[in-house]
Amino acid sequence: MRLKDKVALITGAGSGIGRQAALLFSREGAAVLVVDVNDAGGNETVAMVKQAGGRAAYCHADVSKAGDCQGMVAAAEKNFGRLNVLFNNAGIMHAKDDDAISTDEAVWDLTLDINAKGVFLGCKYGIPALRRAGGGSVINTASFVARLGAATPQIAYTASKGAVLAMTRELAVIHARQNIRVNALSPGPLKTELLMSFLDTEAKKQRRLVHVPMGRFGEAEEIARAALFLASDESSYITGTEFLVDGGLTAAYVTPE
Ligand code: NAD
Repeated sequence: MRLKDKVALITGAGSGIGRQAALLFSREGAAVLVVDVNDAGGNETVAMVKQAGGRAAYCHADVSKAGDCQGMVAAAEKNFGRLNVLFNNAGIMHAKDDDAISTDEAVWDLTLDINAKGVFLGCKYGIPALRRAGGGSVINTASFVARLGAATPQIAYTASKGAVLAMTRELAVIHARQNIRVNALSPGPLKTELLMSFLDTEAKKQRRLVHVPMGRFGEAEEIARAALFLASDESSYITGTEFLVDGGLTAAYVTPE
């Protein structure tokens, strides 16, 4: 088992990547604190983990709120005794996120609050818990859009993920000698609720796929497998990096026939 006796906190675990990571991490021996604002989804993830014989508990927390982030870290330590893995994965892609001219300030603020400040707050309260446990691994979900101009504009989302990458590098350097590794995980376009509701027409989907050499959307489970590697001691000399899991998207200039 690759996460035997570890305790993992996963934000946004009521759906998509977070849910698949909760299932996989628990299969590999971790106890998982499932965090979300969607209580039905979060509780369903916990039920799925338990049904598979794993250990999990649910905590409602909005990652853009300091008190909630403090509460989720306390819940991990209260339920399972410590925290070893912090997966800051929750994020939104707002339906009205567009180019700079047409995106409302409120959409910008909400997106940056959840996607960027949420990672900061997760670390603000989670890193002291990792230190109490003698060290650990932090994984921050970024995105390929932090590196490339996206074909479908989403200015706030893109900016928020750039912030996640920059924060990850600084966190990694600052906490390296405390036995804490911090890495970013950048998925390519995935077949999850988040992207499929944003790319809401077949034409938009195909426009995105033009750029993916593999010619398909990724699955949440494929990202969870990469997260497992970063969470486990197998990645013990890896910190401050960006793990791209994108079907070749960022390597491509033109897509092969
Ligand atoms: P998803 O929508 O399936 O899951 C995101 C989860 O986060 C949901 O359960 C949602 O309720 C939760 N959430 C939203 N706001 C929250 C908040 N304020 N506090 C706590 N939880 C909150 O999406 P996903 O595809 O699994 O996305 C997970 C992460 O991956 C996000 O950070 C997203 O930006 C990133 N990502 C996704 C894609 C993609 O194509 N789907 C690509 C690159 C990066």
